Amino acid sequence: MDFTPSRARGLARLAEFLPAAGRHYAETRNADDGPAAEGARGNVSQLSPWLHAGLIGAPEVLEAVLGQHSPRAAEKFIAEVFWRLYFKGYLEQRPQIWDDYCKGRDHGLAALEANAGLRKAYAEAVEGRTGIAAFDVWVQELVETGYLHNHARMWFASIWIFTLKLDWRLGADLFLRHLIDADAASNTLSWRWVAGLHTKGKHYLARPENIARYTAGREGGPLAAEGLAEDAEPLNEPQEYARRLLDLPPPTSPEDFAEPFALLLHDEAAHHAPLALPQAPALVIGAGRAAARSPGALGTHAAAFAQGALAGGMAEAAAAFGCSAVEWSAGEPLAPLLEAAGVSRIAVPYLPAGWTRDALAPEIAALASGGRVITLLGDLDRATWPHAKAGFFGVAKQIDALLATCGISGAR
Ligand SMILES: Cc1cc2nc3c(=O)[nH]c(=O)nc-3n(C[C@H](O)[C@H](O)[C@H](O)COP(=O)(O)OP(=O)(O)OC[C@H]3O[C@@H](n4cnc5c(N)ncnc54)[C@H](O)[C@@H]3O)c2cc1C
Repeated sequence: MDFTPSRARGLARLAEFLPAAGRHYAETRNADDGPAAEGARGNVSQLSPWLHAGLIGAPEVLEAVLGQHSPRAAEKFIAEVFWRLYFKGYLEQRPQIWDDYCKGRDHGLAALEANAGLRKAYAEAVEGRTGIAAFDVWVQELVETGYLHNHARMWFASIWIFTLKLDWRLGADLFLRHLIDADAASNTLSWRWVAGLHTKGKHYLARPENIARYTAGREGGPLAAEGLAEDAEPLNEPQEYARRLLDLPPPTSPEDFAEPFALLLHDEAAHHAPLALPQAPALVIGAGRAAARSPGALGTHAAAFAQGALAGGMAEAAAAFGCSAVEWSAGEPLAPLLEAAGVSRIAVPYLPAGWTRDALAPEIAALASGGRVITLLGDLDRATWPHAKAGFFGVAKQIDALLATCGISGAR
């Protein structure tokens, strides 16, 4: 699979996948045929890296899919895209989950330092030496490709938590360091879902028969997974995460862009096209903070995708708008970059809960308090997030209405 971190490649992958996005996807999506399979995993889109980086947007993916398939035929694929929106909206209303994940991860890393037995078990897992053949193959695949099939992610997380009995936050951290689509909301909440913390008391136990069945198409045949925990209890935690009311920015108006402004591109909004700006900015500022996702080192693929997405996005925006592009490095103040270009306002694509917000928000907040920030939030996010109050069903039952509200019909 060609995971070039450019908008052009994301759109090309979307076009390649489109014919399969209807019933074929619904019927075959659970199979993990491995990276070497013929057709290189044509049963799933593998669009998540471009979606996470904002090189392509969920609305244009949905629009393209509905242009080729009826809403009924594409129901399953559309629902999966809404899972991503749901998780974003859910974390937005419970940002404490992310903060506690970070604290728990740091605590887990410190526990490894203090306990040789734990350290050995962790090293065996991350180096693919557990003796559980399937798990060891996935660790290698994660590190060598930066991508795992959804089913493999579920099995992996389940074995990590219930069979290897390792801290779920250390597994989530391993994913964040290596996945090229690493996303604070989808990753943290999916690990919590497997553990039985998202839907309280309902966990996901990986079964060898299920793994063998859905990995039968892999080169070398089905993956073996012996010795898995069969009757582990779901995890539990003392915290109750109360929902916080969403505090979304108002929709922008043409007057917001009347004066010259700068456009900020960041790790979750690396391209200008999905942002559909009404006016050209006078300056493009790129802020890459991928390293903030973990205290550990990033995998080669994850680092290269993030870096390439932003560098390409900055260059393409500068060319499209006929302006210059500058980097805003970590630790550097933002205001002098604006002053040097003679602009006072900056358009900032919404910073969702996660490491990008943690890394950028303090400097942005200082400008926002002076009324100098125009926050950009897409219509689909704005419309969907308020429904992500509890379970996915709250969003699922609104999908048709949300598509209609946002004018996504496949007619364009
Ligand atoms: C433990 C675990 C960790 C995960 N970590 C991440 C992560 O860091 N980043 C990430 O983007 N996804 C994550 N996922 C969700 C899912 O596995 C990936 O989005 C999906 O595998 C991406 O492959 P795809 O693009 O081929 O998906 P497709 O099956 O083609 O689906 C289309 C799109 O829908 C969205 N989507 C599909 N399944 C899910 C799902 N279960 N949850 C949320 N969105 C979904 C993605 O944006 C995806 O690109 C995780 C799942 C698990 C179980």
